[in-house]
Amino acid sequence: MGVVKQLYQLQEVDLEIESNEQTLSRLASQLGENQAVVEAHARLTSEQQRLDELRHRQRSAEWEIDNLVTKITAAEEQLYSGRIKNPKELTNLQHEVDLLKAKRDQLENKALETMDQVELAEANVAATGSEFNKLEAEWHNQQQQLSADIGALKSKLSDLRNKRQLWSAEIDPQAVGIYDKLRKQKGQAVAKVEQGICRGCRISLPFSELQQARSGHLVQCSSCGRVLFLP
Ligand SMILES: [Zn+2]
Repeated sequence: MGVVKQLYQLQEVDLEIESNEQTLSRLASQLGENQAVVEAHARLTSEQQRLDELRHRQRSAEWEIDNLVTKITAAEEQLYSGRIKNPKELTNLQHEVDLLKAKRDQLENKALETMDQVELAEANVAATGSEFNKLEAEWHNQQQQLSADIGALKSKLSDLRNKRQLWSAEIDPQAVGIYDKLRKQKGQAVAKVEQGICRGCRISLPFSELQQARSGHLVQCSSCGRVLFLP
């Protein structure tokens, strides 16, 4: 095999390595936390907190109502016991019972409102919770798939690098030196020649250059410097 063809094949391997490396870094950047999962978790936490607060408020209200009912019962018991004879005292007591009952009614209304809010918050927590579970499961599957893809890609890259090493060792070191330098400078070191045109720079090549290239010798394009390859 001519040295130019060897260089061209080396370039094919290098381009394949490059493209796999790009894919690998793209996949690697997708590993880790997922914004949608993090956001759903934050939403769930805040809704759970709101639910806890409401339940606490509901319990406090119930406790306060119980307390008032005990007071009302005691006051009414006193009011109808016949033990209090003084009309002014009786009127005051009756007034106190009325106030306590009004307060109890007010609290009962509030407790009912809170109960509605608790039910709504419970539904929210359930919905957000199942959304979070779904997103997390999807993310988990994705991460597993991603890890598997990354593993496969790494092993493919390792094979390609071995191949590259073996191939480049078989090529004339001077030619490899020219190739490596051009790869660094231009990205593409070997350019195909099609219809007398260098595909690296799209310039028509002089006849003498074409003749030399056709003979299989290492010839560099007089315009762009790339190694000319006639397939
Ligand atoms: Zn050229």
